[in-house]
Amino acid sequence: FGDKNVVPQAPEDPMFGLMAAYRRDEDPNKVDLGIGAYRDNSGKPWILPVVKQADELLRRDPNLNHEYLPISGLADFTAASQKLVFGEKSPVVTEKRAVSYQTISGTGALHLGGLFLSKFYNPPNAEAKTIYLSNPTWANHNQVFGNVSIPTKTYPYFSRETCSLDFDGMMSTLKSAPSGAIILLHACAHNPTGVDPTQDQWKQIAAVMKERHLFPFFDTAYQGFASGSLSRDGWAINYFVEQGFELLVAQSYAKNFGLYGERAGCFHFVTAPSQNAQDTVSRVGSQLAILQRSEISNPPAYGARIASMVLNDPKLFAQWEEDLRTMSGRIIEMRKALRGKLEELGTPGTWNHITDQIGMFSFTGLDEQQVGVLREKWHVYMTKNGRISMAGLNTGNVGYFAKGVDAVVR
Ligand code: PMP
Repeated sequence: FGDKNVVPQAPEDPMFGLMAAYRRDEDPNKVDLGIGAYRDNSGKPWILPVVKQADELLRRDPNLNHEYLPISGLADFTAASQKLVFGEKSPVVTEKRAVSYQTISGTGALHLGGLFLSKFYNPPNAEAKTIYLSNPTWANHNQVFGNVSIPTKTYPYFSRETCSLDFDGMMSTLKSAPSGAIILLHACAHNPTGVDPTQDQWKQIAAVMKERHLFPFFDTAYQGFASGSLSRDGWAINYFVEQGFELLVAQSYAKNFGLYGERAGCFHFVTAPSQNAQDTVSRVGSQLAILQRSEISNPPAYGARIASMVLNDPKLFAQWEEDLRTMSGRIIEMRKALRGKLEELGTPGTWNHITDQIGMFSFTGLDEQQVGVLREKWHVYMTKNGRISMAGLNTGNVGYFAKGVDAVVR
């Protein structure tokens, strides 16, 4: 490995590089709008009150130990995760049409799904063994699917002109994708754009996907975090279920529980209604067991225990919904504040997209050069594509940030 042609130097991960640069910056006004992690109004990480409660209850449990979990994870957690995504009364749950595996947060769920597809997805048309990602998407999607040798392509998603969904572009690519291709869809709060299809647009997407036999893989990393309502944020997945799709879901609890470092997540395989649905689920589950065993053996326990305790206790669940409203509500307030300040300053351009977008992120429309000036002169840290994490804004810095934006676009 002494030869640089054998192991070339890889670039630093842009997001973690940005975090390190922010930490090194000693300017008192510095603003961190990089990583998608919730911050309270004083810019501090926030432990959800319900997570604190569950944590204390867990620590007092005399039966708690450090034994291995089963290969598929904590059963109470995976069962509750199914109910959260699909709803308690969903036929997916009542007809046992899903198999769910606890994973290393959302990334691990995407990986397990990718690995499963790489081994077992063999559409008649070999060209269809391709996953279509939105352009742009969460950068890690490319690496996760590349690592399991599934070729990636993109579908148009965001219009730079309107700072909103390029619906026609998206639909036209879906219409021309090879029959059987895999389509990765963000269930809500699209990362990085903050732009989601409307329910009517989702219906049209589902109709084309059904007609073209496209295979949906949903990434749900922000349920409850986008609108504050768990069911509203889960609507698209359940609409696809109603339409009878076979589909995959990668679920993360990093954002909606603030359990980032605990790596709690779940992968769901859902089969379509059929005579042999149970048999399909059983065979898929048996293969997932082998994949999981060889990759991580069994998943980490602590975060799943916390989430499971909350999901399975009606009082704690109600408190969690309250905490979700606190987080999504503060972000919505910051959207209003930022747009208000920019309009007050008469900043050139239109800023309605800031409040039209939803979830953790906003695609501001700033270009790489403007982002560079914001960083050099204003000590504002954001990704080069103009994405900001809304959670990094608060009543103390939103005015300062707006002034910076105003200066760089003039
Ligand atoms: N998908 C998307 C779209 C995300 O934004 C994230 C978090 N940044 C994830 C998946 C997974 O994150 P984690 O592995 O921390 O759950």
